[in-house]
Amino acid sequence: MKTILVLGGAGYIGSNVVWGLREKGYNVVVVDDLSSGYIKFIGKESFFKFHANKDDLEHIAKNYKFDAICWFSALIEAGESMKNPGIFLRSNLSENFEVLEFAKNHDIKHIVFASSAAVYGIPDKQVVSETDKTDPISVYGLTKLMFEKVLNFYSNIYGISSVSLRFFNASGASFTRDMGEAHKNESHLIPIVFNAALGLRDCVKIFGNDYKTIDGTCIRDYVHIEDLSNAFILSLEYLFDGGRTDVFNLGNGEGFSVKQIIDKVKDVTKINFKVEVTDRRPGDPDIEIADYSKAQKILSWNPRYKLDDIISSAWKWHKSDTYASLVRSNS
Ligand code: UDP
Repeated sequence: MKTILVLGGAGYIGSNVVWGLREKGYNVVVVDDLSSGYIKFIGKESFFKFHANKDDLEHIAKNYKFDAICWFSALIEAGESMKNPGIFLRSNLSENFEVLEFAKNHDIKHIVFASSAAVYGIPDKQVVSETDKTDPISVYGLTKLMFEKVLNFYSNIYGISSVSLRFFNASGASFTRDMGEAHKNESHLIPIVFNAALGLRDCVKIFGNDYKTIDGTCIRDYVHIEDLSNAFILSLEYLFDGGRTDVFNLGNGEGFSVKQIIDKVKDVTKINFKVEVTDRRPGDPDIEIADYSKAQKILSWNPRYKLDDIISSAWKWHKSDTYASLVRSNS
């Protein structure tokens, strides 16, 4: 049985991958510092409350031989990275580099890394493919792109093969388990809209309605976390089968505007809430949609869930007692 080390496995996407791997019969070891993850998503089995740094990992490695790493641990808020770039560079590059050295020293030859569409910055095209220009406009996106490149060198130099998965807008909640999005300082559109519907915030602020889109608000490609989770497992299998180091876009291939998301939530919840238009948020492209044909061709990955599934699963999650208790514990 192969043993997979999941860094950041108690978080929003990582926890789904942990369960997906367990269901496939992998032995899963989870490391998470619980700065944004929740132990109740994954349980205490083979869980270590550690930072993903070298000393802590050395401690765990005394008892396990890892076949691969699935890597989620990171600081993820692009806006925050422009206020505190140093913290992002330290966490997403220096500390990651230490983990990579750990992988090299322990002969771990396969890595699946959570990257981001933020590597593209403001794309020249609405539908972006992996061969398009990468030019991040946030320090967060820069750290993801730089680390992809570092992984490429470690592949060439040390034979550590890796897949970097460029997520577009990760969204939705688990269909089978009581877990979903509950960030401590929420900045993402869909949970913000649900929080407004639940009266947990006064209103939704639309960041700009003068973009070149159908209704003036930004268009994004929302992809369900269970589809992302499945892509992680397919990527691992691809690497175990001898697949070479590569990057893949993961999205649904279709876009929805901020207004369309808000209307959809109002429609599903049957709740009306206040919406205001405010200034643009710096660094938002008008439209960003994934061309995921490479993942389809090479990983045999196909997104199975559409916006309706994303919104209905997220609504079920936001109404749950677990979500309410996490919000209380975060406040
Ligand atoms: N957005 C918004 N109001 C909010 C949060 C987000 O209008 O309170 C917009 C944001 O400008 C972007 C889209 O919603 O166009 C998705 O933003 P999110 O932060 O969820 O994901 P991103 O696309 O930045 O990764």
